[in-house]
Amino acid sequence: MPATPAWPPESLPRLYVPEPLSEGARLVLDGPPANYLCAVLRLTEGAAVKLFDNATGEWRAEIVEAGRKRVTLAVSARLRPREPVPDLWLLFAPIKRGRIDWLVEKATELGAARLVPVLTRRTIVDKLNLDRLRAHVVEAAEQCERTALPELAEPVKLPALLSGWPAGRALYFADEQGGTPLAEAVAPGPAALLVGPEGGFTAEERAAVRAVPEARPVALGPRILRADTAALAALSIWMATAGDWGAAPRG
Ligand code: SAH
Repeated sequence: MPATPAWPPESLPRLYVPEPLSEGARLVLDGPPANYLCAVLRLTEGAAVKLFDNATGEWRAEIVEAGRKRVTLAVSARLRPREPVPDLWLLFAPIKRGRIDWLVEKATELGAARLVPVLTRRTIVDKLNLDRLRAHVVEAAEQCERTALPELAEPVKLPALLSGWPAGRALYFADEQGGTPLAEAVAPGPAALLVGPEGGFTAEERAAVRAVPEARPVALGPRILRADTAALAALSIWMATAGDWGAAPRG
């Protein structure tokens, strides 16, 4: 018996790769993924890993050549197809670094299909590092076993977002000044959740959102939540009522 149990039990390292995967394919990783497999995990030739490409699903692969800078992998078998993703967008006003990283990480775990930074009047963050956010999305997807990455959209200004709003997609607008409790408002079908910045929406913005035919002002309880808490609470409520939380976890 080992002195300490292995943790996590029998789980293989799991990595996202941007190249499309197929049985028998060989791929070479360098940079941080190679460093992670060989320097951090100290894997050597023959070790198995799981890969997913956001297109074809999840695959098993074996290391055929391991170096600190370069790792060659041979893809051996498909383990799972790409998962269906509930059609939910999270529209969020950027918040400061740290909190926004946490927000995209958790939104990925909770199952969002698309993450859209929305610039509002009181948004205080003017520079957004999408590459850093995307790295958090990928890391969260690797960790939580997603086979589909949420799309991280370019930031959009609120008026442009509203004027191009797609017909038929419900826009649940988290309004700290009141609305229908979200759990009661949720209906099946494509949806989006809109959450404001730390300073909230202006009166004009609230009116503009409410003017969209698909907009449904919703409340998230009697307390004022921080923007990140509001986004994740709303996501959880939608997932539990209209999303895929009725499904049992895998394995
Ligand atoms: N400073 C603002 C609060 C902003 S909270 C004020 O004092 O009015 C940040 C965002 O979280 C809000 O714009 C809203 O979208 C959401 N939010 C927070 N608490 C909420 C609640 N109880 N119901 C609905 N939305 C809420």
